[in-house]
Amino acid sequence: MPVDARVEVDTHCPYCALQCGMVVRDERAEATVAPREFPTSRGGLCQKGWTAASLLRAPDRLTTPLLRESRDAPLRPVGWAEALDYVALRLHELRDRLGPDAVGVFGGGGLTNEKAYLLGKFARVALGTSKIDYNGRFCMSSAAAAGIKAFGVDRGLPFPASDLADADAILLVGANVAETMPPFMRHIRPAADRGGLIVVDPRRTATAETAAVHLQPAPGTDLALALGMLHAAVADGLLDHQYIAERTTGFDEVWRIAAAWWPERVERITGVPAADQRAAVALLAKARNAYVLTARGTEQHATGVATVSAWINLCLALGLCGRPGSGFGCLTGQGNGQGGREHGQKADQLPGYRKIDDPAARAHVAGVWGVSADELPGPGPSAYELLDSLGTTDGPKALLVFGSNIVVSAPRAGHIAERLESLELLVTSDFVLSETAAVADVVLPVTQWAEEDGTMTNLEGRILLRGKAVTPPIGVRTDLDVLHGLATRLGQPAYRFPTDAETVFDELGRASAGGPADYSGISYDRLRDGEALHWPVPAADHPGTPRLFLDGFAHPGGLARFQAVDHTGPAEPTDTEFPLHATTGRVLQHYQSGAQTRRVPALMEASPEAFVEVHPDTARRFGVHDGQWAAVESRRGAVQARVRCVTTIRPDTVFLPFHFPGAQRANLLTNPALDPTSRMPEFKVCAVRLGAA
Ligand code: SF4
Repeated sequence: MPVDARVEVDTHCPYCALQCGMVVRDERAEATVAPREFPTSRGGLCQKGWTAASLLRAPDRLTTPLLRESRDAPLRPVGWAEALDYVALRLHELRDRLGPDAVGVFGGGGLTNEKAYLLGKFARVALGTSKIDYNGRFCMSSAAAAGIKAFGVDRGLPFPASDLADADAILLVGANVAETMPPFMRHIRPAADRGGLIVVDPRRTATAETAAVHLQPAPGTDLALALGMLHAAVADGLLDHQYIAERTTGFDEVWRIAAAWWPERVERITGVPAADQRAAVALLAKARNAYVLTARGTEQHATGVATVSAWINLCLALGLCGRPGSGFGCLTGQGNGQGGREHGQKADQLPGYRKIDDPAARAHVAGVWGVSADELPGPGPSAYELLDSLGTTDGPKALLVFGSNIVVSAPRAGHIAERLESLELLVTSDFVLSETAAVADVVLPVTQWAEEDGTMTNLEGRILLRGKAVTPPIGVRTDLDVLHGLATRLGQPAYRFPTDAETVFDELGRASAGGPADYSGISYDRLRDGEALHWPVPAADHPGTPRLFLDGFAHPGGLARFQAVDHTGPAEPTDTEFPLHATTGRVLQHYQSGAQTRRVPALMEASPEAFVEVHPDTARRFGVHDGQWAAVESRRGAVQARVRCVTTIRPDTVFLPFHFPGAQRANLLTNPALDPTSRMPEFKVCAVRLGAA
């Protein structure tokens, strides 16, 4: 093949928030990917990234809209005009009959910034509904709320990931990056090599294997552990008193609580030896540069905000936040987990990370949208509350789903599947027939990843251009086209819902201007030129803000705020009926609900089915053995999974990956108890029992 016929595009991986740099080559019909140098991945890709081109060849790729007129009828192929006309007609009818809140919208943390932005605008302007939220609520919301409380603004990593290489100590809480984002290990390996990596995880994961100190608390007790470590810091004279006095408020209230959590008491609750608690704090406090990083393991709890706040409290007490070479951050999970929570698909937000109940924010965004602020609905219910209300007297009777596979990924998934069945209309926009699309009334086939233009915001708040690299299959449209087609059929002027991603991005920039996540100085041209732009970027000549908080925190007065939080434990403790903790997570080969990675042959070959990790002593106790299929049951449902006996897990805990569908769905078990602030469900701990399948 002549070299000049080959097309190469520098882009980023379709999966997680590390957004590793890759080159997509479109050679005849055969696209391939290869890694390229980029600061977050440093030339690396994991197995998911290496095999990402398979997604572009998925044999069950949807290329025509599908529609069924009744729940019992099969989905049948239809043209785009028929599908969009049908959806618009049904939405019109519902809105006339029951009002705008009869229609709900559910977005995703993998959508590009442009899609997330236009989806929020579509819900508020074209539908007039308050009922919009997204699956990032299940991912980042506790860390986001805790960050805002402490620092006044939330950006996953308020520093470039590459800064971590100079750390002498890193405390990694509830993150198994060696499996979930392997190239990230390149950033923390130097600290590990210096003997400074501390990992908090109830499993001895591949990440924990590299740590100098592995703290293995019982699921749901991280908050107690953080309090114990703060107590140890005080008792062992490790506080940074000058920093606390000059840069923070509220330490005394925090200490009043932590004083009662001496490490030996914490050991009785968490199982973490007091000596290890003290050793971990000493490593952090005595390091020249140190970081505390949290992820879903510690965040996805009904006390998620308080738990993350407790880790931030420890970080502040040691004087680490907002100074060069040290800090606190959370590791965003989904590909656009950061940008997806900034531009208006969240129930309580408008673009630019503005609050929807802030009159000034409403006026600004309404002005950009060319509507009256009075027309914009107020805040709606959070993701689980929205899904739980579907089809009920006061809940939406129709749901539009973009970029999410709720049937597999929602907590208490069996119940949510029933709620979806009770709808009058379920519409999904997807590139394959995911488990959620399979139960929809209308399925709209859309472009994916390398087939379209768009921007993503990675885990360090850097905006990235993911340019179109390959030609999409005939018959599919972009999500922006879908929103345009529906909005115009609902009576909106065509110009208000552009289909060109760059045009949407420019509008997003104007809508975000002056907000915490200000993108107004970013353009596609600057991104094409390779500029490293971390928000806020408030002007076209602004260089971006790779490091936040060096001159002060975002609260008025510039001080960080300690949060007085106390340990309460899991929402569902174990008992004689359900005597084990279950926790869930990801494996190397799969991503989220598996709708993408389960379509990649190499990944399915390596990881084809659900499993349950069980300690050998626990397996004996419950009469199951390695390799057999077991039933794991909670009060909400039962899961089939193959037993893996491992000594790396606590005997009181079992672990299940959440990527598999049907009877292997880990989320059939999970507890939808919600955090009072973030409305995060308690994905990471529930009470279960174990038996032969
Ligand atoms: S899945 Fe994440 S870690 Fe793996 S290649 Fe993609 S962006 Fe990188």
